[in-house]
Amino acid sequence: KPVIIIVVGMAGSGKTTFLHRLVCHTQASRIRGYVLNLDPAVMTLPYGANIDIRDTVKYKEVMKQFNLGPNGGILTSLNLFATKFDEVIQTIENRADQLDYVLVDTPGQIEIFTWSASGAIITEAFASTFPTVVAYVVDTPRSSSPVTFMSNMLYACSILYKTRLPLVLAFNKIDVAQHQFALEWMDDFEAFQGAMRSDDSYMSTFSQSLSLALDEFYKNLRSVGVSAVSGAGMDAFFKAIEASAEEYMETYKADLDKRR
Ligand code: GDP
Ligand code: MG
Repeated sequence: KPVIIIVVGMAGSGKTTFLHRLVCHTQASRIRGYVLNLDPAVMTLPYGANIDIRDTVKYKEVMKQFNLGPNGGILTSLNLFATKFDEVIQTIENRADQLDYVLVDTPGQIEIFTWSASGAIITEAFASTFPTVVAYVVDTPRSSSPVTFMSNMLYACSILYKTRLPLVLAFNKIDVAQHQFALEWMDDFEAFQGAMRSDDSYMSTFSQSLSLALDEFYKNLRSVGVSAVSGAGMDAFFKAIEASAEEYMETYKADLDKRR
């Protein structure tokens, strides 16, 4: 069975560019990939999608018909698509023995996927049928301040909580800024606290307490540095995905079956 990789992350973190990189890598390495675009509002895609939400739902039409703004339009489009998601699962199941990975791109604004009923329906549909892993893309250059880093990690943590799926942190854009600082902060909360020591504001004290709480979260994660632009880190990323897929089989699948 193929492993599903759901790519999420803040707007502009580089999800779509990263997906394009994954497609290039799979093609060059003779890995069999299948690509799904769930962003109804994207103008042009750098990769060719096997299944594209835009073929089924016209986001501009949805906005007009239901008198919605852009975010409402995207959310409603995703809702409409989610009602037919069993067909997507069926299509993938029919090809299951010819595929290694299914790569899933999600809407630019993260909460539209991670905090919507349709996002949950789609995630559950995948996770109950295939080994499923969430790849959380981080904009590394924009996470170099301790407070921004912490807020990004809290978001990642909330996604782990909500989906209960194995999570891989992909520190993207390492062609611009290395992710070493992030690994150090996650590995050793004293290093993180040291980075904030000069600052005694409320946010700083609060972040220090949070870093202690997140220590356990960090231990259960896999982190890799990648660049969607240069292609750095692809092998490490797929290794992390493989290990996470095994973790899905051992832990998450059993948990899912119990809950059902
Ligand atoms: P999305 O909203 O998460 O899908 O983000 P996009 O893939 O549209 O990328 C947002 C911006 O980040 C674009 O200008 C990309 O060219 C840029 N970008 C994405 N990945 C990288 C990367 O690895 N390195 C650099 N330097 N820029 C990147
Ligand atoms: Mg995108």
